[in-house]
Amino acid sequence: MQLRRYSIKFQRINHIFISHLHGDHFFGLSGLLSSMHLLGRTQPIHLYGGDGLKRIIDTTHAESHTVLQYPLLFHPLDFTQSKVIYEDEDMKVATLIMRHSVPCCGFLFEEKPSPRKLIKEKLVEYDIPIEMLEGIKHGNNFTTSGGKVIPNGELTIPPLPLRRYAYFSDTLYNETIIPSISDVNLLYHEATFTSDMQERARQTMHSTAQQAASIAKLANVGKLVIGHFSARYKDLNPLLEEARAVFQNTQLAVEGDVIPIE
Ligand SMILES: [Zn+2]
Ligand SMILES: [Zn+2]
Repeated sequence: MQLRRYSIKFQRINHIFISHLHGDHFFGLSGLLSSMHLLGRTQPIHLYGGDGLKRIIDTTHAESHTVLQYPLLFHPLDFTQSKVIYEDEDMKVATLIMRHSVPCCGFLFEEKPSPRKLIKEKLVEYDIPIEMLEGIKHGNNFTTSGGKVIPNGELTIPPLPLRRYAYFSDTLYNETIIPSISDVNLLYHEATFTSDMQERARQTMHSTAQQAASIAKLANVGKLVIGHFSARYKDLNPLLEEARAVFQNTQLAVEGDVIPIE
């Protein structure tokens, strides 16, 4: 419903990552899979989650006599150690192990190094043969027929800096994970409570806004987005203020907001 409300073309979604099997993190999944089916999807969906998720989906479909028109490809997650679970030529996705009351992981989305970008005018100017372009993209110099060496820096520009986004699902405060997310451009971290509820956060294996901000600060991230707020907070400003006192570049995860990774 929310994807529709914000006009997000969900037929473009090909991979779905489910962090853990508390209802607030997956109860909407069956409806989404069903809507994709009803709208005529034929492209596969890759679903990443704990083993239990496959049993839930299989049972739901069996008991409701649902036969999806598209392949649903299930990828079981290992909640004991961080692993790369998806990779293509542009990016990769790895799990981050959370400390929660049930097996739970977050996800780290990283761009992969891309080759240098060719400067078109220079290729024309030096009449560079097509078969040499791949090498030049990877740093080769070019030698003209007259024997003059044109340095790579004159023919190409460096690629854009690689972007990284870390998604922290439900978790206790956990400093051991900091090295794996240091310097990410954007960190989403749960902040279920304010600090006065720190004991409650510990018992339920959640974090406070201050703890989320501490992780952001220690990991030297570019920006922090906090979310997963307890329903007790009608006004979210105390959560935001508490986080900003520790890490200034923080914003609330508000439904419908678009947050660039930069
Ligand atoms: Zn949970
Ligand atoms: Zn939750």
